[in-house]
Amino acid sequence: MKFCSECGSAVSLQAVQGDHRKRFVCSDCGTTYYDNPRVLVATYVCVGKKILWIKRGIAPAQGSWAIPGGYMESDETPEDAASRELREETGVEVQSDKMMLVSVSSILHMSQTHLVFRCHLDTTPETTCTDEAVDFGWYTNDDLPWADLAFKSIEPQIRQVYRWLDSGNYGIRIGVVDQDRSHYKNYPLAK
Ligand SMILES: [Zn+2]
Repeated sequence: MKFCSECGSAVSLQAVQGDHRKRFVCSDCGTTYYDNPRVLVATYVCVGKKILWIKRGIAPAQGSWAIPGGYMESDETPEDAASRELREETGVEVQSDKMMLVSVSSILHMSQTHLVFRCHLDTTPETTCTDEAVDFGWYTNDDLPWADLAFKSIEPQIRQVYRWLDSGNYGIRIGVVDQDRSHYKNYPLAK
């Protein structure tokens, strides 16, 4: 960043007392800016062994398949954000208390934290195309177009969720997606 959003003066990287790294500080009003990761939420909507996929209508990865999701707003819980993004992108209404955590991923090179949920519906809901989702697919592990996924770095997560879906025995996956040192650990759910 170059200018203070409080007063418009120039900011510069400075050491801040008691802090372990330099921060952008306003030369005029002294406001300190922290560069924190953005929180992205996404949802695996499951009906039987099928998961809802959207064909992305916008960049990045336009025309490829992804699960519905987007960025959390400041006044939302993660579950509320997941429910809202699902509704906005697909027209599918799932209350936030039906959202169950399935994965926490740190995407280090993009400064993002992904909180990923699953929810389970008894019947296939109506979907409505939007700018963000121009087509839909309800895919099992066997018929998902794996070659046309939007975000290949999370393919191991997708495969794990399908394994859990097939077995009915879920866990929570916590890990790191980074260019050359991605790693995950699966945690069992408390009984
Ligand atoms: Zn300022």
